[in-house]
Amino acid sequence: MEIIPLQIKEKPYVITFIGKETPEVTLFRFNPQDNAKIKFDPGMFVMVEYANASTKEKISRAFSIASSPTQPYLEFFISMIHGRFTSHLDTAKEGDIYYITGPYGQFRFVPSEEKKVLFLAGGTGLAPFMSMLRQIRDLGSGNDIVLIYSVKYPTEIIRKEELDELEKALNLKTVVTVTRPQEGDGWSGEKGHISADTIRKYAPDFNERTVYVCGPLGFVKAMKDAAEILGIDTSKLKADVWG
Ligand SMILES: Cc1cc2nc3c(=O)[nH]c(=O)nc-3n(C[C@H](O)[C@H](O)[C@H](O)COP(=O)(O)OP(=O)(O)OC[C@H]3O[C@@H](n4cnc5c(N)ncnc54)[C@H](O)[C@@H]3O)c2cc1C
Repeated sequence: MEIIPLQIKEKPYVITFIGKETPEVTLFRFNPQDNAKIKFDPGMFVMVEYANASTKEKISRAFSIASSPTQPYLEFFISMIHGRFTSHLDTAKEGDIYYITGPYGQFRFVPSEEKKVLFLAGGTGLAPFMSMLRQIRDLGSGNDIVLIYSVKYPTEIIRKEELDELEKALNLKTVVTVTRPQEGDGWSGEKGHISADTIRKYAPDFNERTVYVCGPLGFVKAMKDAAEILGIDTSKLKADVWG
């Protein structure tokens, strides 16, 4: 199949899968209506547009691509917060058409260029890292990865089984930290927000790694503060903010 860059011009995409991934997050897959394979680097985002057929209202939002460029669809992890756009997605059905433009963004990962990396993910900020991990798996590029992933509750871990499989298949260490542990939730892993100490503990060779950060504004600010405490060179830190 011919590989062409995703056009900046909007293109119609068909929803081919909708699945409730966690209580707060829904997974969506969109296939290009023309089936042309999609070219992007993991880390990039697209604009997804909803157009109301009767009112002609148009509304679009940015979403980071969670699928790998090796996959034929675009996958997204979307927090269903009942805002303007996500309320439309709440009523979306498989077969519906949305328009997508992109890809956009400087937050890009090229496996051959960054052999040792530290990924810091907050909530649905896991999306670009999942794209990166899936590409590393599919290319067999053998990168050395530490992923520290912060979620509110154990039930909010996205793609838990796939993450476990990736950890077995890749040179990947995954640490999940739960910021709001509840009595009786059965969580025996790491608790609390990611800090400089968490990074020291799980990635003691952090100075040899390029650090990628993705999540909401508060999360990215906290990760930048932690990086400063650790003396991580800003040229080795790449961040994608959603706020
Ligand atoms: C580069 C980039 C990548 C992104 N990638 C992702 C991604 O992969 N996954 C993802 O889930 N999001 C992602 N986002 C965020 C996404 O673009 C939207 O901002 C998000 O989905 C909310 O859109 P919305 O229209 O539903 O909310 P909006 O209507 O725009 O609401 C925004 C804020 O207002 C609050 N709000 C909305 N309605 C009300 C109300 N009635 N009362 C009180 N507060 C309210 C919401 O809680 C929210 O905090 C990304 C953003 C950027 C910039």
